[in-house]
Amino acid sequence: MNFEDYNLHELLLRGLHEAGFEHPLPVQEASLRFALDGRDLFVQSQTGSGKTAAFLIPIFQMMLTHPDKKMRALVVAPTRELASQIEKEAKLIGKHLPFKVGVFYGGVGYAHQEQLLKKGIDIIVGTPGRLIDFNRSGKLDFSDITILVIDEADRLFDMGFFPDLKKIINNMPPKSKRQTMLFSATLNYEVRKMAYEYMNEPELVELSPDRITVDTIEQKLYHVGSNEKINLLLGILKKQQPRNAIIFTNTKRMAHEVAVRLEKNGIACEYIIGDLPQSKRLKIIENIKSGKLCFLVATDVASRGLHIDDLELVINYDLPENSESYVHRIGRTARVGKGGKAISLVCEKYVYGLDAIEAYTKTKIPVEWADEELYVEDASSGMKISSEKGHRRRGDERGQKVKREKRHAGASRIQEGAMQKAGRIKDHKIFLERNKEKPAREKSAHAAFGKNGIPHGNRKEHETNRPGKKNVRRKAERSPEQSLDARLDYYRQKYGDNFKVKEDKPAREKVSLLSRIIGIFKRKKQQR
Ligand code: AMP
Repeated sequence: MNFEDYNLHELLLRGLHEAGFEHPLPVQEASLRFALDGRDLFVQSQTGSGKTAAFLIPIFQMMLTHPDKKMRALVVAPTRELASQIEKEAKLIGKHLPFKVGVFYGGVGYAHQEQLLKKGIDIIVGTPGRLIDFNRSGKLDFSDITILVIDEADRLFDMGFFPDLKKIINNMPPKSKRQTMLFSATLNYEVRKMAYEYMNEPELVELSPDRITVDTIEQKLYHVGSNEKINLLLGILKKQQPRNAIIFTNTKRMAHEVAVRLEKNGIACEYIIGDLPQSKRLKIIENIKSGKLCFLVATDVASRGLHIDDLELVINYDLPENSESYVHRIGRTARVGKGGKAISLVCEKYVYGLDAIEAYTKTKIPVEWADEELYVEDASSGMKISSEKGHRRRGDERGQKVKREKRHAGASRIQEGAMQKAGRIKDHKIFLERNKEKPAREKSAHAAFGKNGIPHGNRKEHETNRPGKKNVRRKAERSPEQSLDARLDYYRQKYGDNFKVKEDKPAREKVSLLSRIIGIFKRKKQQR
């Protein structure tokens, strides 16, 4: 099928052709005929499937074919990056159209956005918080919205935006008087409930429900001890020599640390986390898109809605704790049918999420065993990297005093100037602490355990901001920063006789062995 077959306005067709959109992608083919009829749509679609154009084309077509009616569209997106990308795509395919598109998100000043609103905007794209701000101050009215798009609805829920979204919708014409299109990677309970409440008998479009993972991605995983992950990461980058890559971590603190360590090893990179100023985030995204920057370390904040053409490799430095995040992360590669690679480093801390990920994606991720050569010497080894203000571990506040004292006691500071010359991570603070004294909890291996021999929960702050139950993680099952011996004890308790480690092995070997044993255990479990 071609776009010509949909009777689209010629100026819209011209925009599509110039954007290089020759044929509709499956999500577009499945939804266009309903949406162009004015029907409500409830679409489950994979990341990178072309869903943005699937709602922009009907918006433009409706506006072009109903010039008599005053039509205004509102697209609500969970993140600033996604909102910016929607705006860009609207400007691309709507290049020859007379409609004004404006984007509204937080983290930047109000003045420019207020100016836009004064000019009058036909297609409003924005994140919930800023949209509500403008609505409250009387600068943005939702009562004349005729088309509403809720993009990445599951993500809006995950980020706790549902109450804001409700306020926005309650200020709009009733569902019978507007067209509503909802897009979501997953059609979970909350999303279905929202569709029921706020949509008018929507047409359900489900794409490849049996296979959520993007088929063209070559996936593999390595079992690795957490203290060797950086060596393995360096080895993978050295061996694969990817043109570009995104390396995902589960915490802001780890994103910062990995980026600093990569830099120290001569790999130019940036990191992107939720609390980075918006201008900086956008600049980093532009740089990676344009190819100026090849390596990006990111938390899940970057896992959705990032359109980077030809991204070759995604590395899960930390296996995500949420199966959906796995799909979104690896979906950054293989955009629109292109091939790509996704490699996961599975350590003892996050291995527990693997079964759920494999069940969710209905795939068995092939395991590869790293030989010694793949563990590359880390030039930042022994270096303690302090987190930047704003993404410190809660418990770290106490540690700051100790750190300060150590610093004064002569611990050498890495020359920030040298790193700044490298020109990337300018505002990092790195301190060398040559392990003069082990942290108290490592003095006694068992101090890391609670009453029942269960390790204490991991206090690291996570980028995810999930409300309610989802925030409750399986703390007891996770094995935080414990000494090697403590972890070995834990695995012994957990896996019993399946778990044997020679006590005389050097530490590095013990950890590799530990990782391999977890792998063997998992395989046995799967064979059963
Ligand atoms: P999305 O799922 O909206 O994030 O889209 C992923 C990418 O596909 C974007 O870079 C779009 O520009 C591109 N795209 C959307 N529709 C088409 C199409 N019909 N043909 C080629 N590329 C497309």
